[in-house]
Amino acid sequence: MPFSIPQYISVVIIGGGQAGLSASYCLRQRGVDDHVILEKHRIGHSWQESRWDAPDSATTDPPFQLPGVTDSSDPAGTGSSKEQVVERLERYVKQFRPPILEGITVTSVTKREGYFHLTTNKGTWFCDDVIVAIGGQHIPYIPRGAEQIPDDITQLHSRDYQSPSLLPEGEILVVGSGPSGVKIMEDLHRAGRNVHLCYGNPPRFPRSYRGRDVIHWLEAMGEFRQTHKILSPEHYLTMRQGEPETDLREFAERGVKLYGFLESISSEKITTYSDLGQNVEDAERAYHECCQRIDAYIQAHEISAPAPINGSTVWDSRHGPSELCFAEHGIRSIIWCTGYQPDFKFIQLPVFTLRGFPETERGLTALPGLYFLGLPWMHTNESVCFTGITEDADFIAAQIQASIPEPVE
Ligand SMILES: Cc1cc2nc3c(=O)[nH]c(=O)nc-3n(C[C@H](O)[C@H](O)[C@H](O)COP(=O)(O)OP(=O)(O)OC[C@H]3O[C@@H](n4cnc5c(N)ncnc54)[C@H](O)[C@@H]3O)c2cc1C
Repeated sequence: MPFSIPQYISVVIIGGGQAGLSASYCLRQRGVDDHVILEKHRIGHSWQESRWDAPDSATTDPPFQLPGVTDSSDPAGTGSSKEQVVERLERYVKQFRPPILEGITVTSVTKREGYFHLTTNKGTWFCDDVIVAIGGQHIPYIPRGAEQIPDDITQLHSRDYQSPSLLPEGEILVVGSGPSGVKIMEDLHRAGRNVHLCYGNPPRFPRSYRGRDVIHWLEAMGEFRQTHKILSPEHYLTMRQGEPETDLREFAERGVKLYGFLESISSEKITTYSDLGQNVEDAERAYHECCQRIDAYIQAHEISAPAPINGSTVWDSRHGPSELCFAEHGIRSIIWCTGYQPDFKFIQLPVFTLRGFPETERGLTALPGLYFLGLPWMHTNESVCFTGITEDADFIAAQIQASIPEPVE
């Protein structure tokens, strides 16, 4: 059947990930049926293609929840593999049949004569409301200077990392110690590879504490629901359930070489700041503060929980090296776990900060009818997670519902 697109539709949702699907569900619940999701790939694409091949889990976050469904087989903190996430998204689509058109890339969004105009690879649309639900991690960020590194060293961004066996033999430098960097370092170390890690400054969290997964405690304590920033999304903790928690100092004891924050890159080496000791201390402080908050909660609510086990690792980080010469150490691969930049350039509307992020108040922009969903801290720490998306999506759906004029009798 030839592909046909109506020229006008009341609401367009760009992106069919967890955010776009949730927006569609909430709109329907509120009787706004005249909407469509435009998705350039197939549902679940970003989980399928842009998450590494970990044999165990890809997410440690609270259970899979989207509006209309909570997967009770996935209790808080058990984690899901990327395949499980994709499978659940597909099941969700089968169950609720949202109006999705796959294979459509929106290439520009403008506003003229009261309508948003969307140019796509399959024609032009116009509409009253646009919900942009395309995530915020679009362009892998690699620090300047990496281009000087000789071609015989394999370089890749964490987005493209799949498994240790796909990297050439030899030592590996991992730059960045957020969740991606630490997990990749763990993967490589377990596979018997020699790893060097440039430590940034993310805090550390316990995996489980006083008998329960930390995610369970934080959720019960309402920390994900806070509307002011108290948790860094970049904390590191092991994603492997039932295994000892990740402590970079222990990895250092076992042979992983730790360095401070990356300072410069040349064709022969990297240099790092001498802040390793401070960064380790800061991460540990965050860890202990998290435990103290849980202790206080247990006490205040008279919860019966096992006593804390006090174990401490002693590792002298003060004298970490401040440079790494590639040839001397036989570095054959570098993995940049240095995050992403947003790319909303196709939206040619004046709602962005100088750094390219949309300025929003709970997803609403200064331009009536233009909304963003699924970005960090739109409302709470859960705004990017399965558990927080329903509330944010329904908030936007309510605004759209309220903006639709009552039909004249
Ligand atoms: C490496 C990595 C690991 C992560 N791990 C976790 C985790 O463990 N737990 C967790 O909760 N979150 C995790 N996240 C955050 C994760 O991105 C979100 O949880 C989730 O994928 C965001 O859902 P979303 O719907 O907002 O965006 P996405 O899932 O990215 O969906 C956006 C969709 O928009 C489509 N799109 C983009 N541009 C266009 C366009 N111009 N036209 C049409 N369609 C378009 C894309 O094809 C995509 O399918 C991780 C993110 C990354 C990058």
